[in-house]
Amino acid sequence: MGAAGAEAKLRGGIDLGGTKIQAAIVTAEGEVVGDSRRPTPSSGGPADVAEQLAEALREAAAAGGVDPGTLEGIGVGSPGETNEVTGEVSRAVNLPGWDDAFALGPALSEALGVPVRVGNDVDVATNAEFVLGAGRPYGSILGVFWGTGVGGGLILDGKPWHGRGAAGEIGHVVVEIGGAHCPCGRRGCMEAYAGRGPMEAKARHEHANGKKTQLFEIMEKKGRERLSSSVWDRALKQDDQLAKKLVDRAVKALGAGVASAVNLLDVEAVIIGGGLGLRLGQPYVERIAAQMSKHLFLDKRPPAIVLAELGDLGGAIGASLLFDAAPR
Ligand SMILES: [Zn+2]
Repeated sequence: MGAAGAEAKLRGGIDLGGTKIQAAIVTAEGEVVGDSRRPTPSSGGPADVAEQLAEALREAAAAGGVDPGTLEGIGVGSPGETNEVTGEVSRAVNLPGWDDAFALGPALSEALGVPVRVGNDVDVATNAEFVLGAGRPYGSILGVFWGTGVGGGLILDGKPWHGRGAAGEIGHVVVEIGGAHCPCGRRGCMEAYAGRGPMEAKARHEHANGKKTQLFEIMEKKGRERLSSSVWDRALKQDDQLAKKLVDRAVKALGAGVASAVNLLDVEAVIIGGGLGLRLGQPYVERIAAQMSKHLFLDKRPPAIVLAELGDLGGAIGASLLFDAAPR
């Protein structure tokens, strides 16, 4: 909790993703008063990304009629390894030229004139659902973010669980020994079947081998270069057989992987979010739950399996919550 009098102050939150940057101005109660989005630069380096983050935040502030200099602070949810003490981010492999540590927090603080804290993107999104969203009724949750990859975040007995810093990598739970190639370089991980990236690679491969599918026509019509969540959604609605096959395969992998995590941790609830999770929505949450029940040790007493409530801005809202915690 902030100091007395700080409650009325607004915070900024920025969600730094591999394809887009989302910024929001958020009240201490988690309400969004202004937001903006812009594409993540695909070339350059960390300094260029930082510049776009600052610009996105300024736009969100303008949309909310707020002077950025009056914010209590700005939180950033970032991929890669984040150091909450120094504000450094390293090994953000989906961002351009970002292997070495870059002091993102200090750079943004300099640009915007207010304190900045950085946290891991999946952790802040999980915390947002725990504090303000679908996880509110529960003490222990697993957040599963089904998007380009599959990320996971854990809250156990009311506290985030980071392990030695790398906990929650649910995408790399093994669902098939010696199975499909995963972007991590190993085989058989859940993400190798359920990540939108590997799903696209598989679709391109099958299409090149003559499998009929409308996926790539839909992609071109939408002016995209990738099979985005909305492309998959449209193909499913058009009853595209290859899309259905690959999404079914993803759902099965999610069922096995998430159930295995539940067998280990016995959390009260699993929150399904991420670009693909949010886009496909409740019917697919139910399909994941049905697949999970095949693998749950206590299948008569499953956890609640629910869709994330905060939607697309959950990451940015969660980042603003970095100013709820005492500085570490
Ligand atoms: Zn993997």
